[in-house]
Amino acid sequence: MKTYNTIIGGKQIIPTNTFEVKNPATEDLIGYAPISTKLEVAEAVEAAKKAQPAWAAMADEERKGYIMKIAEVLTDNTEELATWITKEQGKPLGGPGSMFEMQACVGWTQVPASLDLPVEVVFEDDTRRDELHRKPIGVVGAIAPWNWPLMIAIWQIIPALRVGNTVVLKPSEYTTIGTLEMVRMINEVLPAGVLNTVSGTGEIGAELVANKDVGKIMFTGSNSTGEKIIKGSAGNMTRLTLELGGNDAAIVMEDVNPEAIAEGLFWGAFLNMGQTCACAKRLYVHESKYEAVISVLSDLAEKMPMGNGMDEGVVLGPIQNKMQYDKVVDLVEDAKANNARIVCGGKAKEGKGFFYPITIIADVEDGTRIVDEEQFGPVLPIIKYSNIEDAIKSANRLEAGLGASVWSANVEEAKKVASRIEAGTIWVNQHGAVHPMVPFGGVKSSGYGVEFGVDGLKSVTQSQVISVNKA
Ligand code: NAD
Repeated sequence: MKTYNTIIGGKQIIPTNTFEVKNPATEDLIGYAPISTKLEVAEAVEAAKKAQPAWAAMADEERKGYIMKIAEVLTDNTEELATWITKEQGKPLGGPGSMFEMQACVGWTQVPASLDLPVEVVFEDDTRRDELHRKPIGVVGAIAPWNWPLMIAIWQIIPALRVGNTVVLKPSEYTTIGTLEMVRMINEVLPAGVLNTVSGTGEIGAELVANKDVGKIMFTGSNSTGEKIIKGSAGNMTRLTLELGGNDAAIVMEDVNPEAIAEGLFWGAFLNMGQTCACAKRLYVHESKYEAVISVLSDLAEKMPMGNGMDEGVVLGPIQNKMQYDKVVDLVEDAKANNARIVCGGKAKEGKGFFYPITIIADVEDGTRIVDEEQFGPVLPIIKYSNIEDAIKSANRLEAGLGASVWSANVEEAKKVASRIEAGTIWVNQHGAVHPMVPFGGVKSSGYGVEFGVDGLKSVTQSQVISVNKA
């Protein structure tokens, strides 16, 4: 069985220690991933630091050219990398699965390559001219989660590189190999040291965070790790973008046609088996449509084929790991103990793999764990409301504030409700519809900073004012 390598300063590093990586659908061993040493973390940062001045000094057009070459590499290797995503993360090749994730990787590479941060004249009169320039920060540390492993790594890496930073990336210990393979391929078209990897558990992430030569951390993951990163970087004044957990509310208003919104709601909640930061994680449905919405969603759930993502026709895979699987089981059992109605699913599948059926839970209320805690899995609690004011209050009562959605036949009414929800993005008649041109980020405990679009590019720069006396 093969051992995969990190890459530092353009060279593959053969690890002294490794860990086993298993396929969550079969529990078969698929390879060995490296455990970087603390010295290797320091060497990766050093390599990035050394490569950064030349990378930043390049003409903008030249760097854009490199980013477009990365997009070509991703396009040319889509199938191979998508296969890695499926074998390692579990999402199916087809449907909204790993081929879709790879297309997103290409899109989120091409778009930053097309964007610019021109010098802004922020003030000018007869006496002075003040220009705002955007400079790279230096070395960016990127720490990725396991749910969309390649796509989220791309979200972190590409804007940072585009504006002249160099990067050290640490993938999740649950989904390391595909990411290391992607970076190995990208390195074939980049100058040495521009994009480096380290690998291992949170301890290696913490080592990267604490390195004083890392100027910015792009982090996507859980709230508890986010807090550790704030503490671990505080002494170095490191800039942070923290994309943390969500518990998105979706509010279904009384004027909807349940059939018409069923597919949108279904995938809004169950994309990647619900293991998506901005999935609908609690659904508030007006009492007049409550049973109808439950019925259309459970009909869809029964129809969706679940299995090994390498098999044709499969659109739902396993939960990615045992830790997350146990969490989902625990939350469903707690809901049962609190007299919730299990409309479909709710019982683990037998045999190999971390398969858990799509589970729809009705007759639950705010305050039960399945509503209040982020399930990050294929389970959706559906809560009944009679007054829209109560639904808005419910949406806002938790600390999470990543996304939310409002579903209505009347877009203007839906927008009025949306504007009162405390979240970074509120979608109307869609959920989780992120786009590479549209800033995305959380409020409240879901983190700070935004990714994507021009604002995302700005977040990996530092501003510099050049102020000229004209007198
Ligand atoms: P996690 O916090 O357990 O791990 C994320 C990464 O942080 C991993 O690479 C891990 O090794 C590393 N890490 C762990 N401890 C560390 C430490 N002390 N210092 C530095 N790095 C450390 O999160 P996860 O389970 O991989 O991801 C799931 C969570 O991520 C969910 O809460 C989900 O909502 C959230 N998420 C948020 C977004 C978003 O854009 N807001 C996107 C995807 C996932």
